[in-house]
Formats: sequence, C-alpha cells, structure tokens
Amino acid sequence: MSAIDKLPPLREVIATHQLSARKSLGQNFLLDLNLTAKIARQAGDLSGCDVLEIGPGPGGLTRGLLSEGARRVLAIEKDQRCLPALAEIAAAYPGQLEVINGDALEIDPLAHLTPPIRIAANLPYNVGTELLVRWLTPKVWPPVWQSLTLMFQREVAERIVAQPGSKAYGRLAILAQWRADARIVMSLPPGAFTPPPKVSSAVVHLTALPEPRFPADAAVLSRIVAAAFNQRRKMLRAALKGVTPAIEEHLNAVGIPPTERAEQVGLEGFCALARSIAGEG
Ligand code: SAM
Repeated sequence: MSAIDKLPPLREVIATHQLSARKSLGQNFLLDLNLTAKIARQAGDLSGCDVLEIGPGPGGLTRGLLSEGARRVLAIEKDQRCLPALAEIAAAYPGQLEVINGDALEIDPLAHLTPPIRIAANLPYNVGTELLVRWLTPKVWPPVWQSLTLMFQREVAERIVAQPGSKAYGRLAILAQWRADARIVMSLPPGAFTPPPKVSSAVVHLTALPEPRFPADAAVLSRIVAAAFNQRRKMLRAALKGVTPAIEEHLNAVGIPPTERAEQVGLEGFCALARSIAGEG
C-alpha cells in the first residue's frame, strides 16, 4: 500500500476538518484523486523536481503531485483551516511536503526551492492571473521555474493561448507566448469541482523558453502592447500616438500598415515594433 492509499478520502477529510468551501477564498475543491493525479501528470516529469503549489486547500492536487513523484512540494495556503488536513499528507510523505500559511500575493518562496522547479496550482482565477503575470515578468530570463501548470476559468485560459485575429487575443497572449510555450492541456466541467463554479475551467501548461521567442526590450514591448490593446478598436497609428510621435514611421519601417488594429498584429510584429522604437533615441 502506498503512502497516499493510507490517507482518508478527501470527502472524509473535508467533513473531519469542517472545511466548508468559502467563496471569498475562491474555494472550489477537486475531490477526485484520479483527476488530481491526471493534472499532476500534465506538469511533466516531477521526479527530481521541487514543486511550488499555491492554494493546496484540502490537498487533492498536493497528493497528486507527491504520488506522481515530486521530490519535494512547498505549498502556500491562505486558509488556516486547511493546515491539519495538509499535515496528514506531510506525515504520509516525511520530509517531502512543507506548508506555509500565507498569502501567495505577499510572499515569494521561489528562492527556498532547488532547481529544477515546477509550479502547479488550482487557484481563484484573479489570483492565478496576477501570479502568472509576475512569474512571466521576472527581472532576469530564463526564470528559476521550468514550467507552470495552472487552472483557470476556460475564458482566461483561452486568452493565454489566443492567436492574432481572435477576440481573446491581447496582452495576456503576448506576455505568455513571448517567453513561454503555452498550451491548454485539460478542460474541466463545473461538476468536477465541489462546490461547482458557474463556468468551465481549463488547465494551461506553460514551459519557459530559454530566451524570448523574438528579441525586444521587455519594458518597451509591454508599453506598446498595453497602449495598442487599451484601444483595440482604434488603428495602431492612433492607439500608439502617445508612445511616440513618430509612430507611423516605425510602423512603416517594420512593415505593419498604420491602419492595422492591434488584434491583427502577431507577436513577431510587436517585437519588431518594440525594437524599432527602442532604437529611436
Ligand atoms: N488546490 C485545491 C484543490 O484543487 O482542491 C484547492 C483549490 S481552491 C480553487 C483555491 C485554494 O486557494 C483554496 O484552498 C484557497 O484557500 C486558496 N487561496 C485563495 N487565495 C489564496 C492566496 N492569495 N494565497 C494562497 N492561497 C490562496
């Protein structure tokens, strides 16, 4: 019998520790251990990896990560009520699970881990998006993490992997795809969660590229992409006027028609524009 088999079923854990789901913490739990093991497998080969898990809750995904062979899991959970349930898992995997009771938006534990590092989470979607942006914009690239495996609302997942010409295409797609390979690897109906959320969810797996897909200064790229998509219905020559008065020259120089809208321009085009503008002064 493996360590995980000796642990009680998650429904029992929730009843014993009275973990009634709190909406304020975005608590929609995954109780099916086959499903959580499947999600853990989407994170790649975990053997020999340290895994950072955000929001373990009663520990369904945590069990999956450990049973799939993670060397060590460091989990950050805001809800103190979950700690006894997580302590039971830690006892079943001596020395392999450490839990920090805190807010993942306020602490950054990546420095406590030993590479190779993978990150996995089933989080409230607003916290997930904010953390995703932070993980994709470290001071130096490549980052300390190798991959991110994150649950999002289906609509947010589609924005991360969106291609030009679609409504979902915007800042999140460019940010994610500039420095990572991003794929939707699983779709989950509301009924997979307890309690079920209103919308469907999807797991996105992102692998860090050794270097950005196209050269560009991160700050300049971020500025033009923000300006272009803040006014996505406007032509680029108007939407980007505030970035530089010479915007039409730059657009022409890199072969983007100034009458084009942000939605039509691919990642390569935005990077070329960023390089042209950065070379201005
Ligand atoms: N991972 C568990 C699962 O799959 O069953 C729980 C998922 S539930 C959607 C989100 C979890 O994130 C909850 O346990 C909640 O308490 C926790 N959480 C919410 N905001 C957080 C934050 N800012 N930092 C750390 N954990 C947070």
